Amino acid sequence: MAALYEFWCSGYDFETHFALSAGFYVVPDGTKVTMRCECGWCSSRGLSTIEQLPTEEELKQTLADIDTDAPWMARVRAGWARLGLDATEAKARLIADTEERLALSKIRKAPPHCLACGGIEFKLFEWGRALESLPVRHPGCGGDLVGRRAGHARKALLQYHPEGYLLPRT
Ligand SMILES: [Zn+2]
Ligand SMILES: [Zn+2]
Repeated sequence: MAALYEFWCSGYDFETHFALSAGFYVVPDGTKVTMRCECGWCSSRGLSTIEQLPTEEELKQTLADIDTDAPWMARVRAGWARLGLDATEAKARLIADTEERLALSKIRKAPPHCLACGGIEFKLFEWGRALESLPVRHPGCGGDLVGRRAGHARKALLQYHPEGYLLPRT
C-alpha cells in the first residue's frame, strides 16, 4: 500500500491526487529492504516521491534505544499495544528491519533522490499537521499549494537497486 495525498491550489486551477511510489531495495545478498518515501516537490517534476534514507548514526541510535524508555520508543510500544501486536515479535521485527537498513546504509553512496528523475533538487513536505501549506508556489499561477494525507492507494511494489535506481521487472 502506498500513501495517497490530495493537493490543491488557492488559485482554484489545480486539484490532484498523488500516490507515492512504493517498493523495496534488493541488496546484493538478496535481502529486500522496504523503501521509505515521502512526498516532495522536485524542481524538475513537481509533485514527486522522494527517498528517505536514515543515516548510519540514526540507525545505530535506533538500535541503542530499543530497550530503553526513549520517548520515541515509548510511542512505538504504545502503537504496538494499540494494534494488539505481540511486543516480543514486534521488537524482533524492528531490530531485524533496522539491521537490514544499517547494512544498506553501509553500501549506499548517493544521497536520497527524487524517484521520478533521480534529481536531488527537491523540497520535502512535512506532514505533522492535518493540512499542510507547501513550501512552494504553484508554478505558472503563483497560488499557494495545500495538501493533506488522503489514505492509501494500491500500487505495484517496485524493485530498486541499493543506490535507489529502478530495477527492471523480473
Ligand atoms: Zn495554481
Ligand atoms: Zn525529480
